[in-house]
Amino acid sequence: MNKYAPHQKALEEQLDEVIAQLQDIAVLDTDSGDWVIRTNDIDQTETDENSQADAAEEADERIAILAELENRYRSIIHALKKMEGGTYGICEISGETIEEGRLVANPAARTCVHHMESEFELPLP
Ligand SMILES: [Zn+2]
Repeated sequence: MNKYAPHQKALEEQLDEVIAQLQDIAVLDTDSGDWVIRTNDIDQTETDENSQADAAEEADERIAILAELENRYRSIIHALKKMEGGTYGICEISGETIEEGRLVANPAARTCVHHMESEFELPLP
């Protein structure tokens, strides 16, 4: 059995969760693979200024949430792809083995504990 099977399962569960959250606010553009914010359920026909401001605020909020969820989505896909390619569990900065405890805490981790502070400097997956 693949020694990373428990992490794969955790990643797949997290992926399902993130997709469910994404689907609440966005639709997947199957051509580009990008998530596009759903705004058709925000009432934009209101003429009253307060309601228009509310709708704009709601849209802004969704864009911020979407960006966060999309990062999460991409990092999970990235980790699953690395699993397929046999590079899962290897620090993308040092090439060292990522500690088991770090993978338990975050199965999508891209670096070992030593390089976790620099993880954000890695190009987006
Ligand atoms: Zn490292």
